[in-house]
Amino acid sequence: MAIKYARRMDGLKGSEIRELLKLTENPEVISFAGGLPAPELFPVEEMEKISVLVLEEQGRQALQYSTTEGYNPLRAHIADRMNSKSKTNVTKDDILITNGSQQGLDFAGKVFLDEGDVVLCESPSYLGAINAFKAYGPKFIEVPTDSNGMIMEELEKTLQTTERVKMIYVIPDFQNPTGRTWPIERRKAFMEIINKYEIPVIEDNPYGELRFEGESLPSLKSMDKKGLVVFLGSFSKIFCPGYRLGWTCASEEILSKFIFVKQGADLQASTISQREVSKFMDLYDLDKHVENIKEVYRKRRDLMLKTIAEEFPEGLEYTHPEGGLFTWVQLPKHLDSKVIMQKCLENNVAYVPGGSFFPNGGKENCFRLNYSTMPEEKIVEGIKRLGSVLKSFMEE
Ligand code: PMP
Repeated sequence: MAIKYARRMDGLKGSEIRELLKLTENPEVISFAGGLPAPELFPVEEMEKISVLVLEEQGRQALQYSTTEGYNPLRAHIADRMNSKSKTNVTKDDILITNGSQQGLDFAGKVFLDEGDVVLCESPSYLGAINAFKAYGPKFIEVPTDSNGMIMEELEKTLQTTERVKMIYVIPDFQNPTGRTWPIERRKAFMEIINKYEIPVIEDNPYGELRFEGESLPSLKSMDKKGLVVFLGSFSKIFCPGYRLGWTCASEEILSKFIFVKQGADLQASTISQREVSKFMDLYDLDKHVENIKEVYRKRRDLMLKTIAEEFPEGLEYTHPEGGLFTWVQLPKHLDSKVIMQKCLENNVAYVPGGSFFPNGGKENCFRLNYSTMPEEKIVEGIKRLGSVLKSFMEE
């Protein structure tokens, strides 16, 4: 039997990486592959109390359908938080609550992309966004990056020479996968270019609050005078991912399109999740919670970078992120991180091979390491194992 699927399914093959990563589920493996927050930091006791409280105080409403835009007190909390952390000037009416920020990525594809349209993104970029957009059949153009993120001259050159650019996808804060952050000059230059070409921008920002050092930088959204920037935020890394709560902040015009597609997708985000998280923000200090998270991740980052310096062979480059969850390692050109990963798995250590972060492929000599999930002793042991595998390949 030959079932005929939609054309959009053609490009959506299960990746070989996913198969590799399945092997990292073995508890013997020290995995730096995932992008998971540290579960020991989840506010379990607090949420236990809150779940009872919400059901006692507002059970009938909490278990009912609710509006597509989201629970107003939560939208207001988010607007306040964005204004203080991301330097925006928004109100609850500018916010749509989504099922994680991942849903915002899918909606961006649905709202902006026809088959054959062009998406510009950083090279490399977040795999989950690439996959979400792929379903809408675009062409990706990767804009070259350096240690300060997307290179503006390259962006402008691409915009001058490319037709059908419908959307630019960027992660200016502690990027996934590289951990890099765009400095202020680059943000300003970017907004100048965007205002000139008037192309919608998806500013994906799940990590911006997780800054361990240096000054926090204004979001692109805060510099957006023409209503071109769609900001995607998330509770996954500053709170926990299990509630699946994220948000989209955009101009009235763009947000109305997102609200429309949200209605078609799932009507609304979970009423009870929204009310519980909002209650947490009423009763507890989310800033303090984020400070605790940062403290733990900063130590883990420091330990990972120190152990890398001691254990990796000479001549490898890696990023020194000022926040977020990841560092990115660059290998000599002739090495393939997928091949090395097989050997790593034999030694019970894992990372994500870098190739899949490049939508057009062709770059295999790099990989991503996560430092938020593994406890300190495993970071040291895992990096030692990885170091000795890398040495064996470098000496060949
Ligand atoms: N954007 C980026 C850059 C991410 O790294 C992730 C998840 N790790 C997401 C979006 C999606 O996160 P969530 O749906 O949990 O908010």
